[in-house]
Amino acid sequence: MAGATTIRGVVPHVLMADLAEPFAYSQAWYRRRGAMLVEVTTEDGITGWGEAFGPPELTAPVVAWLAPLLLGQDAMAREAIWQTLYNRLRDHGQRGIVVEAISAIDIALWDIAGKALGLPVHRLLGGPLRTEVEAYATGFYRRERDDHLAYLAEEAGQRLAEGFRTLKLKTGWGLAEDIALTRGFRAAIGPEVGLLVDCNHAYDAPAAIAYGNAVAACDIGWFEEPVPPEDIDGYLEVKARQPIPVAGGEACFARWGFRDMIARRAADILQPDVAACGGISELKKIADMASAFGMRVNPHVWGTGVALAASLHLLAVIPDNPPGLFPRAPLLELDRSPHPVRDALLEAPIIPRGGRVAVPQGPGLGIAVDRAALARFRA
Ligand SMILES: [Mg+2]
Repeated sequence: MAGATTIRGVVPHVLMADLAEPFAYSQAWYRRRGAMLVEVTTEDGITGWGEAFGPPELTAPVVAWLAPLLLGQDAMAREAIWQTLYNRLRDHGQRGIVVEAISAIDIALWDIAGKALGLPVHRLLGGPLRTEVEAYATGFYRRERDDHLAYLAEEAGQRLAEGFRTLKLKTGWGLAEDIALTRGFRAAIGPEVGLLVDCNHAYDAPAAIAYGNAVAACDIGWFEEPVPPEDIDGYLEVKARQPIPVAGGEACFARWGFRDMIARRAADILQPDVAACGGISELKKIADMASAFGMRVNPHVWGTGVALAASLHLLAVIPDNPPGLFPRAPLLELDRSPHPVRDALLEAPIIPRGGRVAVPQGPGLGIAVDRAALARFRA
């Protein structure tokens, strides 16, 4: 018998926009940026939104393939649905595109559940522990120019003026250049600003160890993805033989992908991405596993306001590690690099104020997707 929250429709949306100025991280140039949103609707007319991290043209067909498994199911049964979807493709998709597609569906189901009950997602998760979070600014990518330190320092000035207190520098341009760039960037921003570095696994363990020791005096908060995500032993070497805390996890998937990272303490800081690791349901499990092992969790965030809102609801319930009167609360990653789709997608954008971002308080994810933007950026 069909109930009010019976799933009636599952539609993937592929959105794409050209960038005015291309930019690179250590693995590729971005000339366009896109998003894959999933719209799930119920018999009683509730719409839930989710988002996948991976290439939109690849995650959308997986959602379309999974959609018949969802039609007629109770949207409130998100745990059961997660298991059904994962188990159906377990033999072929334990990580990557498949889990990213499941992530988008799971986020949409949490949005529906919150809307059906009239509660924000963080209250369904048992929160909030906090109603706003401090954000750090992601950006500082490479451009098709030669004066790298000059434009990065200018970008830093903009972020500091906006109220950010911590910045994340992209590296992975060659060891000698990275060392010089890191030292120059630290000198440019001064000693008081928090500095994180992220090479997107551009190094092997010996190079990462050399880098970490060379920039030891730069007071770096974490060294993100020093080596490829498959190289757990490399992570352990980097952790043991250079002084900067090691972060990673944006390319790990589901509880099983994080199990070895956590059990072997391969990183100091775990960075599951809600739009990749399996959604809100799975990130909560990963965060709880990390808590049992005394590890920090700072979710990776890279996408539109849908992924950002989902991340904020999780940040409202991720425990302080360790708890205390003066805890180190988890940080929000806020991507400040150009993304025309992200900037136009929400009717009311999620905006930092003084470097802090409020957890949405409306039902579900607490956001509204602008249909005109969906139409404008449809690929
Ligand atoms: Mg990263």
